[in-house]
Amino acid sequence: MYLKSIEIHGFKSFADRIKLDFKNGITGIVGPNGSGKSNVADAVRWVLGEQSARQLRGASMQDVIFSGTEIRKPMGYAYVSICIDNEDRALAAEYDEVTVTRRVYRSGESDYLINGNECRLRDINELFYDTGIGKEGYSIIGQGQIDKILSGRPEDRRELFDEAAGIVKFKKRKDTALKKLESEKNNLIRLNDILSEVERQVGPLEKQSEAAKVYLKKKEELKELDANVFIIESERYEKQINELN
Ligand code: ATP
Repeated sequence: MYLKSIEIHGFKSFADRIKLDFKNGITGIVGPNGSGKSNVADAVRWVLGEQSARQLRGASMQDVIFSGTEIRKPMGYAYVSICIDNEDRALAAEYDEVTVTRRVYRSGESDYLINGNECRLRDINELFYDTGIGKEGYSIIGQGQIDKILSGRPEDRRELFDEAAGIVKFKKRKDTALKKLESEKNNLIRLNDILSEVERQVGPLEKQSEAAKVYLKKKEELKELDANVFIIESERYEKQINELN
């Protein structure tokens, strides 16, 4: 797996659409101060889902959009697309090349795409877990970050080693499973509440059901007796009519 190319349009200092092709090896980008070398690394960090404007050396997320110069109008959107060679299937995708794209408009609207299909930021994060490439990975080490890693908190350093050891995916899955477990526990508590409420109603309902059964039996008996009374009376009236005749 290696970075094959990066396409940038409207991102930071890149007003014109540019495409940088990389070979499988080491590429150095050189240029005068302020010419946009770090902006290339920022573009990679951004397309991988960076949400912190500070990490991108800006004050707000809109700062990544080309803000114009004296001779050039600002752009309405920023676009970055990276193409990764995946012939070794280092990424969990059944493609030889994986393209990840991010677009953001001044209105705040934004979208992510994997191989041209719209996706969620979460899909991109999951794609890069344990590859060291994710925005939390160690593949992009910005200016001053080495110092931060060396003098950082042990927990932060641990994250870096977890990523290198390839266990971040399992940690994330564990977190998700624990959250699910917690929510199922809460469901169970609610179900137990409902059950005890229902159980409380069972006693009186049992009595009511017994009374209803007795009522139905008596109703049946009454119907039979009514029929008998009718037969006896009709015989009596018939006899009276005969006598009167
Ligand atoms: P150095 O060698 O000093 O680290 P560099 O080559 O890494 O410099 P960058 O920091 O990548 O340079 O680029 C800085 C340039 O990008 C500045 O000239 C700045 O004006 C320009 N820039 C940053 N954000 C924007 C933006 N939103 N619109 C236009 N230009 C921008």
